[in-house]
Amino acid sequence: MAQFWRPGSERPRATLVDDEEGGVLFVSAPPPSSSSGFGHSSLERQRQRLPVFKYRDAILYLVENHATTIIVGETGSGKTTQIPQYLKEAGWAEGGRVVACTQPRRLAVQSVASRVAEEMGVKIGEEVGYTIRFEDQTNPSVTVIKFLTDGVLIREMMDDPLLTKYSVIMVDEAHERSLSTDMLLGLLKKIQRRRPELRIIISSATIEAKSMSTFFQARKKDLRHAAEDSVPSHLPAVLSVEEPAGDILVFLTGQDDIDAAVKLLREDTQDDRRRTSGLLVLPLYSGLSRVDQDLVFAPTPKGKRKVVISTNIAETSLTLEGVVYVVDSGFSKQRFYNPISDIESLVVTPISKASARQRAGRAGRIQPGKCFRLYTEEYFLKEMPTEGIPEMQRSNLVSCVIQLKALGIDNILGFDWLASPPPEAMVRALEVLYSLGILDEDAKLTSPIGYQVAEIPLDPMISKMILSACNFGCSEEIITIAAVLSVQSIWVSMWGAQKEFDEVKLRFAAAEGDHVTYLNVYKGFLNSGKSSQWCYKNYLNYQAMKKVVDVREQLSRLLRRLGLALKSCEKDTQILRKAIIAGFFANSCHLEEYSHNGLYKTVRSSEEVYIHPSSVLFRVNPKWVVYHSLVSTNKHYMRNVIAIDPSWLIEAAPHFYQVRTPNLAPC
Ligand code: ADP
Ligand code: MG
Repeated sequence: MAQFWRPGSERPRATLVDDEEGGVLFVSAPPPSSSSGFGHSSLERQRQRLPVFKYRDAILYLVENHATTIIVGETGSGKTTQIPQYLKEAGWAEGGRVVACTQPRRLAVQSVASRVAEEMGVKIGEEVGYTIRFEDQTNPSVTVIKFLTDGVLIREMMDDPLLTKYSVIMVDEAHERSLSTDMLLGLLKKIQRRRPELRIIISSATIEAKSMSTFFQARKKDLRHAAEDSVPSHLPAVLSVEEPAGDILVFLTGQDDIDAAVKLLREDTQDDRRRTSGLLVLPLYSGLSRVDQDLVFAPTPKGKRKVVISTNIAETSLTLEGVVYVVDSGFSKQRFYNPISDIESLVVTPISKASARQRAGRAGRIQPGKCFRLYTEEYFLKEMPTEGIPEMQRSNLVSCVIQLKALGIDNILGFDWLASPPPEAMVRALEVLYSLGILDEDAKLTSPIGYQVAEIPLDPMISKMILSACNFGCSEEIITIAAVLSVQSIWVSMWGAQKEFDEVKLRFAAAEGDHVTYLNVYKGFLNSGKSSQWCYKNYLNYQAMKKVVDVREQLSRLLRRLGLALKSCEKDTQILRKAIIAGFFANSCHLEEYSHNGLYKTVRSSEEVYIHPSSVLFRVNPKWVVYHSLVSTNKHYMRNVIAIDPSWLIEAAPHFYQVRTPNLAPC
């Protein structure tokens, strides 16, 4: 077993370990196949050629005999798409039972579910279905294999704490250590004590299975021969299109730089046909529409070379056939949380060695490949961290705490964590939830607010905003805003076209800020009869707008179910902003008086922040603002900003804010 196989060297072999308590299976790298071989044989033949197929019986044996089975196998070996099918074939989905497979990413859920449905020759949403937040493509009476995000599975526990309908739950991509995966593993361990018949499969692309197996007492020894490692060669960081045929996978950090790179490369194709002709340049990130996703997975047209520019979603969650070259920027965007300043932001961060190896491993799956690393070998060897930090230890824990509370886990510090969250972050989360009125002095969910917030599948601050809007009488507007904030971005990417973008935004811009602007956009969309043409003319993403309508509809149904009133405030934007503040008072900032460049400071911790260029308040710089989120590159940028009156902050959160009156300070 090796995480990276150097082309030309001996292929790693698989190991099967079995003992009384649990099983661990290592699956080797995919076997070589001729570059043009795939696509011609039937799907069934393709299935049988996958490395995991050789271990079909072994896997079924382990699952039959052990409560927990850990499967480690390289990306592309067939874990995600095959194992749920084997389980179904072996009878684990009979008698109304369902096999579940979780993924940290929504796009991966949709993509693997479609693939499995295709392999089984069924329509998606029937025997094979998927559920992600705000999108349920399952049919409870026929779905037997269900893909879902780990977050959605945790939510399902609120209605069915023991997850009784599932016979097997496969927690996939466990090496990613996402916040929800870690939480889910702790919860499943608890469920297992009550439901010994439940089978858990933990599948992972890297060797970090050790901590998992100790956690589940699945296996404690004999992992050492699996830990050997080889360092991939470092090749010059120049990728010439003179290289032999094969697709190129480029790892960049996020939607913005991916869109920028796609645009540059496409322009290049037009400028200079000889140099880059034949390139089919495609983006890949989680906000992508279905149409664009399908292009990425479609076979490369003859005579073309596909260039997929991706976030780290293509690192292990998705397999792209035909990739022979990988370009690794060495960076990814990661969530970071500072409990002192209470700032959580997305930060462009150097990746770990484990990730670098995974990325390199995407090359040469079907023939010897090359990985071009845009950093030095010395950096890789001496400075790059070995492993990433689990998300649990670098996140704001507000959502996590409220979900555990809603599941009746009161002693959160005593919860069985795979990796303990930092105590400061935990304290901060409790403090924020208390100030939002979601927890009481005894750290119990308040009734009704706390319980209602837990019911709404959104960030607690948004949920609190919605509930307050019901009291203020502006819930019709607020659920529109919440829906817009829950989709990636409603604007079509305007990279490099700031002027045009500013003009378009002016058509909708509201002086109060982005949230109110979204109401204008939404109204325009409805008035146009939900026209795609209208979206096109206004640089709006039609798919995203349709999603907004759909999410809004689901939120209005949810409010009705909670017995809450849907009311409109007509044009009273003050009430609207007060409702927003009821959820987001902690994100308030004021403009530094003597600055010309729009420098703001957060009220809580005097952190320096700026308004993001995508905001309608960019360069407007109102004196006081509240933001929805921060993105950080070299600076902290506030995304989705509204102008406020500071007195509203004290009104909304008297125990959070105090007016500083120096004259009255105690002596
Ligand atoms: P793993 O989970 O081990 O990374 P998967 O089960 O996702 O592997 O994929 C196994 C194989 O199935 C891949 O190597 C690829 O050949 C094929 N495959 C998976 N998804 C798709 C897809 N969307 N389109 C075409 N082939 C796919
Ligand atoms: Mg997989």
